[in-house]
Amino acid sequence: MEEWQEGEIIENIKWTSNLASLKIKANIMPHQAGQFTRIGLMINDELVTRSYSYASSPQDELLEIIYINIPNGVLSPKLHQMKKGDKIQVMKQAIGYFTLDEVPDGENLWMLATGTALGVFLSLLKTPLPWKRFEKIVLVHGVRYQNELIYQDLIEELKKQYPNQLIYIRSVTREKAVNSFNYRIPRGIELKEFQNYADIEINGSSQFMLCGNPEMIKETSAALSSFGLKKNRRTSPGNITVERYWT
Ligand SMILES: Cc1cc2nc3c(=O)[nH]c(=O)nc-3n(C[C@H](O)[C@H](O)[C@H](O)COP(=O)(O)OP(=O)(O)OC[C@H]3O[C@@H](n4cnc5c(N)ncnc54)[C@H](O)[C@@H]3O)c2cc1C
Repeated sequence: MEEWQEGEIIENIKWTSNLASLKIKANIMPHQAGQFTRIGLMINDELVTRSYSYASSPQDELLEIIYINIPNGVLSPKLHQMKKGDKIQVMKQAIGYFTLDEVPDGENLWMLATGTALGVFLSLLKTPLPWKRFEKIVLVHGVRYQNELIYQDLIEELKKQYPNQLIYIRSVTREKAVNSFNYRIPRGIELKEFQNYADIEINGSSQFMLCGNPEMIKETSAALSSFGLKKNRRTSPGNITVERYWT
């Protein structure tokens, strides 16, 4: 049964006109990096809830999510209006299986994110486990505009902390941006541009975690199948583990 807890908004960080992060103080159960929660507000006398990945890691004090303000969306425009001190409902127990426990061993781990899905990977990267399990980790963030390349300070810190392990790839599709590719994620893989940049081949010892836009997940999974990789299922382990944000 879902159990709810009242949380308090500590910060609503506006990165762009519609991309933001919420920091929430709430007395919730510990989560595992990679999981998501549900967040809710009373709208017209009804508790409206939506799922959000934890961008915070299990050791962080505040619950942090990255969200986009969807025009005509039901909940996200209300989130966008929230201010420090406002109250919000948070699910007490985290859910989801997009965790490293579900990912088989391999040499390299690729984390492919579109937009707000960067958060789930930041949560994972802030924990020691991926660095112990994989030789190299390639974080690919696909966005439309350069100003959506958020959390640069944290990514720089991680690069300093793991200089021989972390490879960070940015790809901006709707404008030219410095130090960035200009491909949608599946195209960057098909053209082997990302592999060349990372100096890593995709083969049976590669593990992939894909999160965000369902089209990216579909097309990237198809691109990866041409390298002989298949979906990772509990009953039949593979190389591609996915989390879709909508259908
Ligand atoms: C497991 C899971 C984790 C999720 N984690 C996040 C998260 O960390 N951050 C986040 O912003 N959303 C996340 N979502 C999506 C989120 O639950 C909501 O769908 C989203 O905030 C829109 O809610 P809404 O009520 O404003 O819009 P709705 O009226 O519910 O409209 C939904 C529509 O908005 C679009 N949409 C939904 N999410 C996104 C997105 N992230 N980026 C671009 N377009 C989108 C889709 O077209 C979708 O059909 C997650 C969804 C799932 C299932």
